[in-house]
Amino acid sequence: MLDLTSTSEQKTLGRSRREYRMEKPPAQRRKQQPGPAALQVAGINGLLQMIAAGRELPDVLGVLCRFVEAMAGVCHCGVYLIDWSGPKLRNAAATSLPATFNDPLCGLPVRCEGGPCASAACLGTQVIVEDVETDPLWQGSAFRALAALHQIRSCWSTPIWSAAGEVVAVFAVVQHQPARPTAPQQALMGLAAHVAGIAIERAQHALALKRTHAYLAQAQRLSVAGSFCWRVATDEFVWSEQLYHIFGFNQAERVTLELMASRVHPEDVPLFNDAMERARNTPGDFEYEHRLLMPDGSVKYLYLAVHAIFDQYNQLEYIGAVQDVTQRRLSEEALSKARSELAHVARMMGLGALTASIAHEVNQPLSGIVTNASTCLRMLATNPPNVDIARETARRTLRDANRASEVVTRLRALFARKAPTTETVALNDATREVIALSLSGLQRRRVILQPILAEDLPPVMGDRVQLQQVILNLLLNAADAMSGIEDRPRQLLVRTEREAGNRVRLSVQDSGIGLGAETAQLFEPFYTTKSEGMGIGLSVSRFIIESHRGDLTARQNEGPGATFSFSIPCEPPSPTAAVRQMRVL
Ligand code: ADP
Repeated sequence: MLDLTSTSEQKTLGRSRREYRMEKPPAQRRKQQPGPAALQVAGINGLLQMIAAGRELPDVLGVLCRFVEAMAGVCHCGVYLIDWSGPKLRNAAATSLPATFNDPLCGLPVRCEGGPCASAACLGTQVIVEDVETDPLWQGSAFRALAALHQIRSCWSTPIWSAAGEVVAVFAVVQHQPARPTAPQQALMGLAAHVAGIAIERAQHALALKRTHAYLAQAQRLSVAGSFCWRVATDEFVWSEQLYHIFGFNQAERVTLELMASRVHPEDVPLFNDAMERARNTPGDFEYEHRLLMPDGSVKYLYLAVHAIFDQYNQLEYIGAVQDVTQRRLSEEALSKARSELAHVARMMGLGALTASIAHEVNQPLSGIVTNASTCLRMLATNPPNVDIARETARRTLRDANRASEVVTRLRALFARKAPTTETVALNDATREVIALSLSGLQRRRVILQPILAEDLPPVMGDRVQLQQVILNLLLNAADAMSGIEDRPRQLLVRTEREAGNRVRLSVQDSGIGLGAETAQLFEPFYTTKSEGMGIGLSVSRFIIESHRGDLTARQNEGPGATFSFSIPCEPPSPTAAVRQMRVL
């Protein structure tokens, strides 16, 4: 039996009233002893500090029980968590109650008739059992037998609620004599249940957070991805374990921009610096790719998606995810190489077939012309000249010449373009689509693309797809022009702007090799300086822009590189102009 009345037992229950009193400075104590209210505040404060410091739940609840035992007088306290999946009571802290009482109690199912604690949990109300022996409610219950075994006569069970309104535990006070709680005891139990609720929720959140961290770490390991947080003002970085692993850094190392840059592939350093600079100066979400050069000489491809937020002091912070896409990139590259080889072969075969058919079509009438013309000459050279045959062969020459001319007309008809469809085109959107399509390819070629799209751009009338073809061609040409540039960043600026005369202009400015002296030549069909070039991109682009009543021009930049730009009017063409245009086509 537990003798709760003896002072020695009271001391073992936890901190005695005397201990709580000692928290006041001795000088003050002599003058004025703290009352129960002050002790209560001191005790609760101490508990809240423990919770805030993240102390383990059993420790906090143990101190809470001892505190109530010390404040309330002769009693034992326990906190029983409710496992609703059981549903069962689980002992979280009942420091002064023996295991012979707690263990069987905790096995009991949570049912209204199971005992005062189970009942308080089920009903969500406080259950006060003044005398277990005489209370008819618990006569046949397992709880009554357990209480009798430990000479427990009274039991007061108070539900502990979560912020979400669910009973998460029960705070129990038991005594060896029949008793009802006094008003201060009631208040103390209410307070204890409240503090216990805070501690339990906090512990549950900490556990959930721990689990989330564990899942995240596992997910990052599986997806070969890491995450980071960057406080821009102070350049502080917090990296996930997996990110250290991707960069091949030791977790003890302090992450700095310099450390990161030291691992970036030298060719991608301008790209990396530019991304950092842009992130610093223009807060916003962004994505980009760069490579790492690892100490063993291997190359890793990283994909970064970064989200900007502002902390409580309005300081810019980035939260980002980094994925190691090396495998994907290598397979993409292999695929794209295979695809471009295939396209090349197909083009060569197509061109070959086309050339053969043109040669065949034109050759026949041409050789006819040659044969007939020489027969004609021979007939005229005889003495006397055979005028009839000469006339006939001259007629045949004419026929063959007409056939050759027809072939050429047919071929022209075959390659003639249709009149552009006219619709309202938001040039900025059309440009963004082209950029999105070509971005990963450009990044792979280490091109730093910066779009500066005018906000007030009026829509233009034209053929969206054709205009996009032009933009794409200009972007690809710019990337080609920069492919050999190693001593400066491969900057590509795509700008849209409004122009006088209700027109809009789109320019593509690169920092590539620039233009030679003869810019007009660039627009000639089949003019190319590239080994793999066809030399038709710019001539087709100019054709498209002119059919939109615009003009496409090229100029050498003041610095390195060239700028290609087109300007088109916003209004639709007049019906007569459209007809004229179709005739020209
Ligand atoms: P291709 O790209 O197949 O050569 P294009 O008609 O598109 O055909 O281009 C013709 C030529 O114009 C290119 O071969 C190149 O010499 C020149 N050119 C085009 N764009 C640029 C540029 N941005 N910078 C320098 N030269 C360029």
